[in-house]
Amino acid sequence: MQFTADQHLLKDLNRMAVVRQLSAWPGQSRAALAESLQLTKSTVSGLVKELIHEGWLLEREIVATGELGRRPTPLFVDPGRLVLLGAELGVEGVQVVATSLTGDVLARARAPLDAGRDAPLALMRAARLLTQVYARLDTPSQRVIGIGVGLPGGVDEQRGHLHFAHNLGWRDLPVGRLLVEHLRNTPLQGVPLFVQNDADAAALGELEFSADGRDPLIYLSLGLGVGAGIVVEDRLLTGAHGLAGEVGHTTLEIDGPRCSCGRRGCAEAMIGFRTMLPPGEEGGGLAGIQRRLSARQPDSTEAVARAGRYLGMLLGNLCAAYDPGRIVLGGPAVEIGAPFLEHAFRTLEAYASAAGVSPPLVTLSRFGVDAVAVGAAALARYRLTRPLIAASRLAAAA
Ligand SMILES: [Zn+2]
Repeated sequence: MQFTADQHLLKDLNRMAVVRQLSAWPGQSRAALAESLQLTKSTVSGLVKELIHEGWLLEREIVATGELGRRPTPLFVDPGRLVLLGAELGVEGVQVVATSLTGDVLARARAPLDAGRDAPLALMRAARLLTQVYARLDTPSQRVIGIGVGLPGGVDEQRGHLHFAHNLGWRDLPVGRLLVEHLRNTPLQGVPLFVQNDADAAALGELEFSADGRDPLIYLSLGLGVGAGIVVEDRLLTGAHGLAGEVGHTTLEIDGPRCSCGRRGCAEAMIGFRTMLPPGEEGGGLAGIQRRLSARQPDSTEAVARAGRYLGMLLGNLCAAYDPGRIVLGGPAVEIGAPFLEHAFRTLEAYASAAGVSPPLVTLSRFGVDAVAVGAAALARYRLTRPLIAASRLAAAA
């Protein structure tokens, strides 16, 4: 029997609907899946058989309890056989992780950027780390099905193109194409590769690998730069040019300090690391800030508290724009902790109570320093399990 392209798509949609359903509600039986997905039992049985064979799902036998007879077999997403790779290219360096389909980190590797932050060199290094992490997997029983990459800037995911990464000084870079070239003639040749902004990737990490379904979900990345990933009704909001969520470049202070993007008073210029350090020491990063705070230098305490208040203002603006069900904070600046975040939470609470609304749930990312790399792995899972909107897959044939 010949299948048309539409029939293939329909089958893939049903297959991935089964995977997503079991991801959200683990342990369902074939009969329960058929009912919740409105498919026939024989269709579900056929799909489940295939998905178990390919490594997506596993079934666990339950011991029958006498009079009740044979209980239906519960199904789960298989955390063992299919593997996702995620890479973060950031100002701190390159970090690569391998994760299971359920988000457990199986292996990791990292390398610094060279002093000149040369883009082609950084991409070559990322490709090398990806193959190194692959080499640590238990192949062929484990198989890599997708690679995601998170970048600190504006990304056109469709083309795998980086518009800009101000803090790295990179512009107009065909990241997807270059990485695919570097992975040619390696075991990763032909594996679907997806490229996205770092905060967007981290937001998908929270969406894919957490049981919390509160929506909309905003992930706010805080460090040298500031950016957000926004998920609305299970979809990553990318915008017309891939630039949605660049909230670090919304203005919080007219005539404020100059931002890396060239404008003045952007959220990044009011909240990012540079504003927490005195003139001449702006490059000190997290270590510089923590050193000054532990030396109890009053100007630093105030600079960090002020950045915290502006963070509260940005959170308030995000609440007004999106009415989020959940906000997750991540990035190196959350390591500063109370001297920074308490001021943000206080400002946000004041903002909410003045208008008689309750503040949203704000949590810290549970993946810590791995948030972007794990999120990049989640990006691959997000795209592969949503065939209808996976228009951006790069390079499978390469
Ligand atoms: Zn800016």
